[in-house]
Amino acid sequence: MSNCVFCRIMAKEIPATVVHEDEHTLAFMDIGQVNPGHVLVAVKKHVENIFALEDAQAAAVFRSVARVARAIRGAFEPQGLSVYQANGAAAGQTVLHLHVHLVPRYEGDGMALTWPVKNPPREKLAEYAEKIKARLQ
Ligand code: AMP
Ligand code: ZN
Repeated sequence: MSNCVFCRIMAKEIPATVVHEDEHTLAFMDIGQVNPGHVLVAVKKHVENIFALEDAQAAAVFRSVARVARAIRGAFEPQGLSVYQANGAAAGQTVLHLHVHLVPRYEGDGMALTWPVKNPPREKLAEYAEKIKARLQ
């Protein structure tokens, strides 16, 4: 897609600082750098979100995520590392081309994700699980 910033990176129309590449994925430095060493792993082909991802791409993305995560840990020795991936505006996705964030983490670094647990009764978990299982392919 010509108006997609990550497609333009894949086509080398705009620059990116690449750390890893394979058949299905390209890993490059996030321009915003929440912490030094913040990398994005993106699919090469334009796929908007996780719902449109083929199995081979999904496997390749997570293989690259794990490989690059190990390299970030070796290079920056962070206290932790967050893997973050957003689908849709409500989830915080701003670039509509599938990508995974790898963010080196430190105590008190200011990156926050609130986690408003509801702790429903166990019957609710079963009800939710049945709804999902009915649609698994
Ligand atoms: P998200 O909110 O998950 O869609 O994140 C999009 C990310 O893409 C942001 O963290 C941006 O800093 C990053 N980004 C946007 N444009 C570029 C670019 N040209 N090169 C590298 N990273 C980019
Ligand atoms: Zn794209």
